Formats: sequence, C-alpha cells, structure tokens
Amino acid sequence: MNKVLAPLEPGSTIGILGGGQLGRMLALAAARLGFSVHVFCPDENSPAFKVAEKSYLFDYDDEKALGRFAQATDIITYEFENVPAHTAAYLSAKTALHPNAGALKIAQDRLAEREFLTSTDIAIAPYAGISRVDDIEKALAEISTPAVLKASRMGYDGKGQAVIKTFDDIPGAWEKIGCVAAIVEAFIPFEREISVIIARSQSGEMVAFDPGENKHVNHILDQTLVPANISDATHHAALKIARTIADALDYVGILAVELFVCNAPGYEPLYVNEIAPRVHNSGHWTQDACHTDQFEQHIRAICGWPLGAAHRHSDAVMKNLIGDDYYQWPKFAALGNHNVHLYGKTKVREGRKMGHVNQTKPHKKAT
Ligand code: AMP
Repeated sequence: MNKVLAPLEPGSTIGILGGGQLGRMLALAAARLGFSVHVFCPDENSPAFKVAEKSYLFDYDDEKALGRFAQATDIITYEFENVPAHTAAYLSAKTALHPNAGALKIAQDRLAEREFLTSTDIAIAPYAGISRVDDIEKALAEISTPAVLKASRMGYDGKGQAVIKTFDDIPGAWEKIGCVAAIVEAFIPFEREISVIIARSQSGEMVAFDPGENKHVNHILDQTLVPANISDATHHAALKIARTIADALDYVGILAVELFVCNAPGYEPLYVNEIAPRVHNSGHWTQDACHTDQFEQHIRAICGWPLGAAHRHSDAVMKNLIGDDYYQWPKFAALGNHNVHLYGKTKVREGRKMGHVNQTKPHKKAT
C-alpha cells in the first residue's frame, strides 16, 4: 500500500527518467504547476533536456549519477517502461518512485503482464510462455492458428512481433523476433482498438478519460479518435477494467490500457492487449479536449495533489506527425481548430514521432 504523503509543494523538484517527447510534455506540465524538473537520459539529443532545469546525461546503470539524481529530486517518475529493473530498485530504496517498481516490472515483461492480468480475471487472448522454438508448436496445438508471437521484452510499435498463420510459419517467426523469450497468443479478430487512460492517486482516487479509438499505420499509432465508436456499455466496461488493473497494481500516476473490441451478437467483448505504466501517445488528445490533460494528471497524482477533472469538453482527433509528416506543421498551424505540438527533434527520420496535432470540436453533450 502506498504511503499517502502530504502534497508536494510547488518549487519542489521532480526527476524524470527518460528524455523523449513524453518526458518533455511531463516536464512542461510540471513547470506549469510550479515544479522544477530534472531529466535523466543517456541520449544527448533528448527532447526533454531542452525544457528541463537540469539534465543528467548518464547510463541507467551509473549508480553514482543515479544517487546524485535521487539526492537532488523530491520524487522520481519515468516516461518509458524499459527502465532497467535494477535502476528502479536502486532509486526506490533512496526516494519515492511512482509508478511503483512492481507495476514497472509487470508492464515491461509480456509474460508477467499476462500472468498478472489472468490473476485479476480480466479477459485476454489465450497465451503461452515460450522459451524455445519447440514450445511454439506445442502451444499452438492448444491455442491454434492464426496466432501472434511476441518477444517478452522491449517490444513496441509492432517490433519483436510476428504473425503465425500456419505451422510452417513457426521457424521464420521465431527468427524474426530474434529467438528470445516470448509469448504466443491467439490472433483476436477485433473490430477496433481502444485505449483507456486512467489516473490513480496515492489515496486510491481514480479519474479516467473517455476511451479513445486508435488507428495504426505500419504498426505505429497514426490517429486517436474521441469519442470511440463503441456502445455506452463497452465504454463503461473498458473503464471498469482500467480501474481494476490500477487498483490491483496499487498504482500511482497515469496508466494506459490498450484493448481490442470485438463484435458478438448483442455485445462487444473486450480483451486487454497491453498496459503501459506511463503517459501514452493515445492520450495526447487530452491536452486540448479536457480540463486537465494526462500530463498534468500524472504530475498531480505522483505529487499527492488532488486529481483534476478529466471531463472532455470537445471531440478530438489526434494525428501523429511521423517522419516527413513533420513538414505539414505550417498547414496545421494555419487552421483555427488545430493545436500543433512539436517535440523539438532536430532530425526527421522515417517512422520517428516528430509531433502531433489535436483537432478539436466542442460539443454540447461534452462529458
Ligand atoms: P502490441 O505491440 O502488442 O501493442 O501489438 C501491436 C499491434 O499488433 C496491435 O495494435 C494490434 O493491431 C496487433 N496485435 C497484437 N496482438 C494481437 C492479437 N493477439 N490479435 C490480433 N492483433 C494483434
């Protein structure tokens, strides 16, 4: 159980592990609430360094540097789930780390994540843990094809993943993911993909944003549409799943839960695909369509502040600017109902997230 601390005073210092765009937007939100921000990241071109009061350019296993970082900050959070477990353990022993190291450990390993979700009775695709190529054939005798093979660790944007349509695909799929510990799971014939972004405070209070509907191109998130095209019952069921997960992890901060929505007669079965213990790309729409966005909500939660209202005052379409899309920013900047968010990255590369645009439309029935 988390110890409920007094709210962290403005002027205190928040440490962020990871210097990407999520760290940058967290730092900006923290600055708006009067906090100082220190960012720790081994990449000298980190977008978050440009908006932080202090940058720590060190490897995540440099304990001396981590010690100084912990000493100089009042609380530490992270912007990506692949923070090494020993880094999280080292920092947790010295200072408050949110979300907790246990949640991080579960979210960074797909097998641990599946076992955890199973323990909470939340529906997921039938799966099996894989450590050798022979395990795949054995597992698929039960699970059947089509199936998806996913490396247990470090997978993102469809990387470390291979679809198995028939048993003949097994050796190629195993090679494709790099012959590493993995899970294999049933292919879910979903209608749409949604995500729920939820904030949980130190006292267990929770505030969820409306589910967003996610559209991918080349396995990378391209757009999030809000409201999602789902029934009210599915909306509430998705929120309930997110709350169950956040409670079970004794979570503090923003948690993202990705779900597959299927189509069955009279209802829409939901399967959790993935959880992310951090602010999430599919929550960027909240910056311009909600009273308190995901970044401020995360800072409020970890600092023991009351959570803000997550009410959506507008419908939204969030469009990622990926690679060359970046050059379209002047077009979007000239449109009245579009907010442009750029990450300060100097080099445009194929597949690289350079920024995003939120198109909003206020509506009378805003939740
Ligand atoms: P992930 O890295 O697990 O988020 O997966 C990336 C994408 O692959 C998802 O957004 C889905 O479009 C697809 N995918 C992953 N797992 C499955 C599955 N079990 N069934 C169908 N599609 C999947």
